[in-house]
Amino acid sequence: MFSCWLSQLCRGLSTPTRRTTQLIWSSASRSLVLSSQRRIPELSSFVARTNTCGELRSSHLGQEVTLCGWIQFRRQNIFLVLRDFHGLVQVVIPQDEPAASVKKILCEAPMESVVQVSGTVISRPPGQKNPKMPTGEIEIKVKTAKLLNSCKKLPFEIKDFMKKTEALRLQYRYLDLRSVQMQYNLRLRSQMVMKMREYLCNLHGFVDVETPTLFKRTPGGAKEFVIPSREPGKFYSLPQSPQQFKQLLMVGGLDRYFQVARCYRDEGSRPDRQPEFTQIDIEMSFVDQTGVQSLIEGLLQYSWPSDKGPVVVPFPSMPFAEALASYGTDKPDTRFGMKIVDISDMFRNTEVGFLQDALSKPQGTVKAICIRKGAEVLPIFLKTNENWNSPVAKFIMEEQGSGLVKLLETQEEDVVLLTAGEHKRACSLMGKLRLECADLLEARGVVLRDPALFSFLWVVDFPLFLPKEENPQELESAHHPFTAPHPSDIHLLYTEPHKVRSQHYDLVLNGNEIGGGSIRIHNSELQHYVLATVLKEDVKLLSHLLQALDYGAPPHGGIALGLDRLMCLVTGAPSIRDVIAFPKSFRGHDLMSNAPDSIPPEELKPYHIQVSWPTDAETEKSSSNHPCRSES
Ligand code: ASP
Repeated sequence: MFSCWLSQLCRGLSTPTRRTTQLIWSSASRSLVLSSQRRIPELSSFVARTNTCGELRSSHLGQEVTLCGWIQFRRQNIFLVLRDFHGLVQVVIPQDEPAASVKKILCEAPMESVVQVSGTVISRPPGQKNPKMPTGEIEIKVKTAKLLNSCKKLPFEIKDFMKKTEALRLQYRYLDLRSVQMQYNLRLRSQMVMKMREYLCNLHGFVDVETPTLFKRTPGGAKEFVIPSREPGKFYSLPQSPQQFKQLLMVGGLDRYFQVARCYRDEGSRPDRQPEFTQIDIEMSFVDQTGVQSLIEGLLQYSWPSDKGPVVVPFPSMPFAEALASYGTDKPDTRFGMKIVDISDMFRNTEVGFLQDALSKPQGTVKAICIRKGAEVLPIFLKTNENWNSPVAKFIMEEQGSGLVKLLETQEEDVVLLTAGEHKRACSLMGKLRLECADLLEARGVVLRDPALFSFLWVVDFPLFLPKEENPQELESAHHPFTAPHPSDIHLLYTEPHKVRSQHYDLVLNGNEIGGGSIRIHNSELQHYVLATVLKEDVKLLSHLLQALDYGAPPHGGIALGLDRLMCLVTGAPSIRDVIAFPKSFRGHDLMSNAPDSIPPEELKPYHIQVSWPTDAETEKSSSNHPCRSES
């Protein structure tokens, strides 16, 4: 598998006369095919090798080559297989007396040692060709060899990608990076980012601008990492995104900005989040929602690896209210049905206490989803044979039962799940159950979601504000406080702000949010009103932005794509950590270097900081609150 995959990397790179070709990097199970007309990169310029291990073919017969690579394995002290990122090649260890020193080097070097060999490309003897290996027709007759560096006993075998714990992989990340999977993920990421740059800068005149990492607190910035400064009591904050800077760039007339931006959010441990992550961050002046959406559709279409199927544009759109009502989430997975159905009307006259109770409350509803053939595969349910097999069945009157059958189009062996409660909560619960059931069904062999399908969806028409979870009387921004209200709802801002729709849009891929953005408020007074009056934020923290908006700020809007999540979906990796070279563990630790680390008190002095060490009881409490205590 390894040899097959690596050796096929950059097929065509070994034909120096063809200056453009398809760059193909493939394995038996997947391949990376980027644009059809690309300049072939020079893979061996400036370095000690003349060729890569993976590129040699019969067309190179007779050539004198120098290769550098890692020893993958050795057979009977006669053959050695050498590996680099490009593939594997067989090296013949010389057996004659004058070459005894070369033999000694190549036979004594431990596996995974890194060596340089020079020799001639020769044909393998008849019967010894290996059709499974792209370099399988040739081998290298070695004349000289150098041990560049020896390898100690490894903590795990490089070949064995799946069988080691993630903690061990992260501890020895530099070794894990030698794996087929990590090489593929990081190279595909690099290629896609290059295509994105090409599309944005070369085709559409965007300007790549770097913005600061040391910044200041923003309102509502509870998730920000804090960096001490040498001024007593003064701290920088790491930006959650370059949001303010990109808006200020619009004021500055850099009217098409983009950046591969590092963002920081201190959200505690979340299994599939990273405290530092990367966004493709974009902002444009004089643009509306459709303009931003079309740009992103074009960007993804252009940068999409062609072997992953075409990206069909425009992407469909769904209002937030529909996403919530039908899928119970703002990031619906539309690859399969099993939608949530409101069956409140059917139960208006019910005598069932808890349903009566739920329906009598504001926003009270009854919801259902129908899981096709669920009874066949979900072990928790017994076979029904036309009877409602449920503890609540006796409360469901005949006409309600038949109404349900009609509305949900239920058939034998289907399972119907019901819930009653406040609309949003009931939908969100049903949305979670819908996904759980999909996982259960798929685990039992029912095909619901085509793994090769990429289903993009815009979610639009979000409310501008949502009630705060902890205090529903107060409002918070659904996206961020710089998002503009829907033009036809502006008047409601001053009377019923909770009813205002926004110009915020999210991009969803297979049920994952991969991007979000908005048209911004460019009027200083309106921005001040939203911050101070609606959100009750400290406007002093944003006085620079409010001031800037007063100096002829153009109308503008933008978006950010989450690059890590996008790459995770494109590569089919199980975790976003698999598409990041040096990720943090789910507890936010770098298991290789042990960051975050303690600092001696004297080194904290210049920052006027002292550690207030937690008591044993506090430490105990915080670790028992932790969802996953151990990282190994
Ligand atoms: N800065 C926003 C975010 O990080 C994206 C945007 O509104 O452009 O979510």
